[in-house]
Amino acid sequence: MIEEADYQAMKKKSAAQTGPAPKTAEPFQKFPEAVLLDWDEKYLYVGSDGLPDHPMMVGITAWQQQVPLPQAYYLGNAWSIPLHPVPAANGMSAKTNFFRGAIAVAANGIPIFNPIKNDGRTDTFLAGELDEYGGHCGRADDYHYHVAPWHLAERLGPSLPLGYALDGYPIYGLAEPDGSTVNGLDSFHGHTSATGEYHYHASKSYPYINGGFHGEVSIGGGQVEPQPSANPVRQAGEPLPGAKITGFTISADKKKYQLDYSQNGRKGSVNYEILPGGSVHFTFKNPDGTTSESTSEKGKQRKSGDRPPPPPDRKAAGGPPQMETNGQPRKPWIENHLKEMDRDQNGKLSREEMMAEVDQTFTGYDADRDGKISSEEANGPGVRSSMAGFVKQHFAEVDADESGSISLEELKAVAMKMWEKYSRGEGFSFPRSPTLEKP
Ligand SMILES: [Zn+2]
Ligand SMILES: [Zn+2]
Repeated sequence: MIEEADYQAMKKKSAAQTGPAPKTAEPFQKFPEAVLLDWDEKYLYVGSDGLPDHPMMVGITAWQQQVPLPQAYYLGNAWSIPLHPVPAANGMSAKTNFFRGAIAVAANGIPIFNPIKNDGRTDTFLAGELDEYGGHCGRADDYHYHVAPWHLAERLGPSLPLGYALDGYPIYGLAEPDGSTVNGLDSFHGHTSATGEYHYHASKSYPYINGGFHGEVSIGGGQVEPQPSANPVRQAGEPLPGAKITGFTISADKKKYQLDYSQNGRKGSVNYEILPGGSVHFTFKNPDGTTSESTSEKGKQRKSGDRPPPPPDRKAAGGPPQMETNGQPRKPWIENHLKEMDRDQNGKLSREEMMAEVDQTFTGYDADRDGKISSEEANGPGVRSSMAGFVKQHFAEVDADESGSISLEELKAVAMKMWEKYSRGEGFSFPRSPTLEKP
């Protein structure tokens, strides 16, 4: 769901950027009404509400009864694109991997998923699952493309890519940026251009977009990680055999929606409205003439307008990070999260990798960029990093000077302590502080 607070906070961050935007930002800058851009040394962050401005859903003939709802792809839940892609020692094919989540982001801020759906074999385009623009909605009512967003080319022109793969390489259309013919594509549908830069080319048949990753990506749970998550407000739908989507309208404020379909010559519709508290009211007019209504639970994420969650409980947060059972310390935190943080995947966590994690976590949480993580920020929307949960859970201990907020130095100090113990082969737990032991 749209979270006004997250949107505003990212807008502020974006406006506070000084200096020229990285080159990777160019195609996204063509859609200023749809995307918010932010960046640091390593990533371009693309924020959007996940709803494109073109008609959605019309033309789908294999429908799972999902509908488009706005998502909060902002701040720590924005799309991150590496600014300095690194060729992988062995690229990875999207024919056998990455059936979950996005593998690219279109210039209008809409994610692009693997053309093969999560069963690992169905070509979504050939199966009739996609609308006229190559998109549809996932199980969280999250709209995404599964093929190249050709319609964006009109605004982008031939010299800009249609979007970026999540390894940081651009995806161009059928011709080279200078208009010349494309030659010599590899199995991922990419090649190194005359200027020495690697890029992909989209196509009208499989693989449609990047057929895998030439560059390094981190993988977790069968998808590229980190990547934003969509926020489901209801149970996933079932296929509705024979249904064909015929119409879709959305109000200017993106609060009211109507989807029309036909099934065996009879009409059906889904009307839905986002209510002020963030829940969604659905009215289903079924082809058999019946009507039903339901109101979804609110999503799991914080909604704008809600009270911010209470600050972490200092007493409860007083324990060591590795809870002990039968006197046996659990695996140290670093070892539990080694795979996610081990950016070069060499099986070891370097000091630099630990620091990179600290930087990513800190930047992600410090929404207002005042150089401190307040408890409100720590309890705000999830940050895509392994340390994110750690900061939330151990807020009080990390806040060594008990100022009520975490400075970068405080987070670094804890991370370095953990890392030093890890590099010596020891576990780490916070020393028990007497002030925290008080009832
Ligand atoms: Zn999909
Ligand atoms: Zn090319």
